[in-house]
Amino acid sequence: MRALRLVILGRQGSGKGTQALRISETFGCIHISTGDMLRAAVAAGSELGRQAEEVMNAGGLVGDDIMNGIVAERLGADDIMANGVLLDGFPRTSDQADALERICADQGVAIDRAINLDVPVDVVRERMVARGREDDTPEAIDKRLALYEEQTAPLLDWFGARDLLTTVDGVGSEDDVFERISAVIGR
Ligand code: ADP
Repeated sequence: MRALRLVILGRQGSGKGTQALRISETFGCIHISTGDMLRAAVAAGSELGRQAEEVMNAGGLVGDDIMNGIVAERLGADDIMANGVLLDGFPRTSDQADALERICADQGVAIDRAINLDVPVDVVRERMVARGREDDTPEAIDKRLALYEEQTAPLLDWFGARDLLTTVDGVGSEDDVFERISAVIGR
C-alpha cells in the first residue's frame, strides 16, 4: 500500500480521535495526535510537559514554534517515512499549516488529503460536557471552541485553496461516519 499522508480536521468533540484510530488501522498510516503527545509529555514531567500543562488546562494553544518543532521531528522518523501518517490536532493555526508545507517539501513528500469532519458546534459542546475529561471544564470548552473558529477554521480555506480538502458529515453512527471517510480515502 502506498504511504498515505492525511490530515484530519474537526472541532473538538467531533469524533476526530476515534475516527483517526480506525483510519490508521485500516489504511496503515501512523496516527499522530499532538494532543496525545502533549499529554504524554505532561505525564512524563518533561520540560515540554511543564511548558504545555498550564496552557492546555486553560484551553489555550501551545506555541507554534514548539508545536512545529515537535511535529517536524516526529514526521522525519523512519516509521512515518515508510508507512505514512494521519495528523490529528496539527496543523491548528495557519502558521502551523505553513510549517507543515515546508516540512513536507524538505522531505520530498506531500499531503494527500485533509478530511474535515463536520459536526455542528451545539452537538460537540454537548458531547464534550458528557465525556468529562479533566481539561473539559465549561470555561475551557468554550475557550477551545472559540479558538477553533478563530484559528483553525481558516485552515479549511488554506487546504481548500490547495485542492486538498474534503468535508465529511460527522453526524451519525461511528460506523456510518467511518464509511464516509473510507470512501474519500479510497478514491
Ligand atoms: P481537543 O481536540 O479537545 O482540543 P487535543 O487532544 O487535540 O484535544 O488537544 C489537547 C490540547 O493540546 C489542546 O487544547 C491544546 O492546548 C494542545 N494542543 C494540541 N495540539 C496542538 C497544536 N497543534 N497547537 C497548539 N496546541 C495544541
